Amino acid sequence: MPAALSEYRRAHSLVAEVKGPARHKPCDFCGKFADDWAYNHADPREIYRDGYLWSENTSYYFPLCRKHHRAYDRTFRTKGREALTAFAEKMRRENQRLPEEISVMRAMCDALWRSREIGLGNIEPGV
Ligand SMILES: [Zn+2]
Repeated sequence: MPAALSEYRRAHSLVAEVKGPARHKPCDFCGKFADDWAYNHADPREIYRDGYLWSENTSYYFPLCRKHHRAYDRTFRTKGREALTAFAEKMRRENQRLPEEISVMRAMCDALWRSREIGLGNIEPGV
């Protein structure tokens, strides 16, 4: 495995360690369960090596479903960083959820977070 790939993967698993698994979050664009932590391409100190681009800073990652992660990265490759903000806004607008759906999703994500934290011994059950 090239060194860049293992560093790229390590940066992504660090995000999951710090923020929890992406599967426990709603996709930032459509509100369905996310699959990945996506790099938002906004870190001024991002690293680009051997064809891999990543950030070491976990605050530059946000949860996306696979479909929207692909679309986001495709927009970056074809139209560049400048196009990403408008693309993200368009995706959020086009995939808007009803307030009831959002609150159900929040409750499900909170339950997932809670059971993971209990499993890790970070919080007590029933608190
Ligand atoms: Zn999505």
